[in-house]
Amino acid sequence: MSGQFIIDHKPVPFEPGQTIMDAAMAAGIYIPHLCHNPEFHPHASCKLCTVKINGRPASACTTQAAEGAVVESETDELMDDRRILLKMLFVEGNHVCPACEKSGRCQLQAVAYYCNMLAPEFTHFYPQRDVDASHPDMVIDFNRCILCNLCVRASRDVDGKDVFAISGRGIGSHLIISSPSGRLGDSAFDAEDKAAQVCPVGAIMLKHQGYDVPIGQRLYDQEPVSVVGDVAKYVVKKHDQ
Ligand code: SF4
Repeated sequence: MSGQFIIDHKPVPFEPGQTIMDAAMAAGIYIPHLCHNPEFHPHASCKLCTVKINGRPASACTTQAAEGAVVESETDELMDDRRILLKMLFVEGNHVCPACEKSGRCQLQAVAYYCNMLAPEFTHFYPQRDVDASHPDMVIDFNRCILCNLCVRASRDVDGKDVFAISGRGIGSHLIISSPSGRLGDSAFDAEDKAAQVCPVGAIMLKHQGYDVPIGQRLYDQEPVSVVGDVAKYVVKKHDQ
């Protein structure tokens, strides 16, 4: 039986089995997120979609909608928490937005703008990470990986290949490639794979195609992420070139 709950004083209808995130997206209400894509099982790892449900914090992407629930999302407290999470993501990797081909199409950058993150606050880690350009059509820059797990889920659940996995724990967590050499070029990865289309940042990128649209005229340069949605909906595929 369908029902209704409230987000930030706005009524939101839901169908049985929908999560808070599903129902909010269907109703055109934006809840910041990076690791969520409605095509995949939710992962609840980025924590940006944390809301308060009847006063208790919970991930909107994994919590089932319930009749009469009162959900807070855009409060000062929750937006402060999101800015802190975003600031940590920016210093944990090497994100050079002004020189990144994904600038203007990067969901991390767009969500940071949406959450009014104006400057870094924490000390940069400047980790030493590889760039793997061994694949003929794709390149992976581990410096930009935010460990959202989307390529892992896409490769496993849609492509049936298990090309990617996240190894290690805590600060030692990192993305790995399943191939004899550990390099992308020796894996079963293909530019037509779903996993090639879901990266919310500039970590998994097409080769042979860059700056086709000038920075300043790109997806999130035109409209905020709250209006245009996830970048994965707009990914240019190899055959579109
Ligand atoms: S490479 Fe991209 S899609 Fe894969 S885990 Fe890293 S940020 Fe997510």
